This record gives sequence, structure tokens and C-alpha cells, in this order.
Amino acid sequence: MILLDGKKTSNDIKDEIASEVSQLVANGGKKPHLAAILIGDNGASETYVNAKVKACLEVGFSSTLVRLDTSVTQEQLLAEVEKININSDIDGLIVQLPLPFHIDEMKVTESILPSKDVDGFHPTNIGKMALNLPTYLPATPAGILELLLRYNIETSGKHCVVIGRSHIVGSPMSILMARNTNPGNCTVTLTHSRTKNLNEITKTADILIVALGKAEFVTANMVKDGVVIIDVGITRIKSDKTKSGWKLLGDVDFKGVKNKCNFITPVPGGVGPMTIAMLLKNTLLSSKSNLY
Ligand code: NAD
Repeated sequence: MILLDGKKTSNDIKDEIASEVSQLVANGGKKPHLAAILIGDNGASETYVNAKVKACLEVGFSSTLVRLDTSVTQEQLLAEVEKININSDIDGLIVQLPLPFHIDEMKVTESILPSKDVDGFHPTNIGKMALNLPTYLPATPAGILELLLRYNIETSGKHCVVIGRSHIVGSPMSILMARNTNPGNCTVTLTHSRTKNLNEITKTADILIVALGKAEFVTANMVKDGVVIIDVGITRIKSDKTKSGWKLLGDVDFKGVKNKCNFITPVPGGVGPMTIAMLLKNTLLSSKSNLY
């Protein structure tokens, strides 16, 4: 079994980005600039946004964090997005999910300029992705592709099973794995909460990508020997064994399945750090204005 080390791989990518940024700046260019909007005081969202801001500093980007109260109205939030849309110094904008219930997530996604949508969630960018046109790929699926690429994992002709059909992970992942690219060229089965006989399907997977948000859902009896497993899930559970008072579990029973796998991502230290690295990559791309 080979561990797909997202922490190390993301550090390699961050080093590559940092050297490109220092060259850009040395040649008189401006630093790439990422803005994030964080609403409310959700602990997990706070952790993710802080990690993104820290990563910006590590690679030499500028960053702006806009904090808004949970009571913010949709109009006020859209006005904040618009301020960033028209700020020519800012290259990329992310609005940390989840949003409070009274806010329409799709309206907010659509309000971000596609040229600054470095999360790759805007319908324009999703459409370009599906058509295999140059665009910002959604960060988590892009991070998974990068891991497969950098570990030289053959995907062509393989059966890839994706569990979960969210707009940000499962659905784009299924499109990307089916495209005529490398990584890609898989025969893809997208499964979800209404799928019947899930175990029979997962047992035929050469590559299993799991993003449903249920801790340790995938067990050894659901996979075949030699499978490649990508575990996207992150569930925070209370723990008296850690300093923070909680620990993270993936969607896969890592200990139970690891001996059947050729490759597997750990949680934490697998897909999570890759997501942040891809967000930085998209922001760098935006600052070079290559796409729009
Ligand atoms: P989501 O929560 O929006 O949707 C879950 C999906 O799982 C749905 O499509 C649903 O149909 C499917 N599902 C639920 N129960 C199922 C079952 N029994 N069998 C098959 N499918 C089932 O999904 P999401 O936003 O993609 O998040 C999934 C997990 O990934 C969460 O734990 C989230 O925290 C994590 N996540 C991690 C990263 C990262 O960077 N590592 C990024 C995004 C999400």
C-alpha cells in the first residue's frame, strides 16, 4: 500500500508557486491577491479560511479576509462581493461555505465574476470544465487529479466509482474522470443516496473516490484488492486525546481497508491540503490573466 501524501505534495506545489511569485515580483509584476468572505463563527469554516490565509502568506500572495456577521442580509453580502469584483487589485474571491440558511448559495456563486471565481463553482466555469476548455477547476477535484498525476496512477480505461454527487466534489469529479485527458479516460459510475446495491458497485471500482460526509462509511467488504482510494470526507468528532478537543475522520475505515489498497489518501493529510494548493494555483492563474 502506498500512502498518497497530500501534505507533502501540496508543499511541493506551494514551493513551485512561491518561486513563480518571487520571479513575477522581481520582474516588476504584482503579487497575486486572494480575498475570502467568511460569515458567522462556524469553527470548521474558521479553520479552513485561516488555513487558506496562512497558505497565501507562505507563497507570497496578498490576502484579504472579510468577516461578516451571521445576520448579514443577502443584499449586503452581494454588495461585498461586488466591491471585490470591481477591485482590480484582487485576483480571486472565495465565499466560504456553508452559508446561513437565509442566503441563496447559488445567487452568491453566480454573483462572483467568473474571472475571479478561483473556487471554480460558477456555472460558466463548470460549463467550461465540462467542455474541456481552459478554466479554474473546482479546487478539491483538481487536487485529486494532481495527486493521481504526481503519483503516476494509471486512470485510462479504469472503472472509477464516485460516492456523492455534490456540486463542489462528486459531480465535477465524475465529469473530470471521464474526460479525454490524463488523468481521465475512466469509465465512471456516479453513486449517491438513492443508489441501490452500492456495495456491488464499489466492489468493481479500480479507483474509488468517496465524498459523502459519513465517517468511516466505506469498509473492507466494499472494495476489491488493488483498489485506489481517495477519501474526501472530513467529519469532526470530539476527542479527549487531542489538544484541540476534536479529531478528523474520513469517509473510509482507513485501518480496515488499507491492506487491500494499492494507493490510499489519509485523513487528515490527504485531499484537504491539496484543495488549498489548487486554490492558490487558480489564484496565480487569475493574476496572470490567462483565462479571461
Ligand atoms: P454533500 O454533503 O453536499 O453531499 C453528500 C453526498 O453524499 C450527496 O450527494 C448524497 O447523495 C451522498 N450520499 C449521502 N448518503 C449516501 C449513501 N448512504 N450512499 C451514497 N451516497 C450518499 O457533499 P460534499 O459537500 O461533497 O462533502 C462530502 C464530504 O467531503 C464532507 O465530509 C465534507 O466535509 C468533505 N469535503 C472535504 C473537502 C476537502 O478539501 N477535503 C472539500 C469539500 C468537502
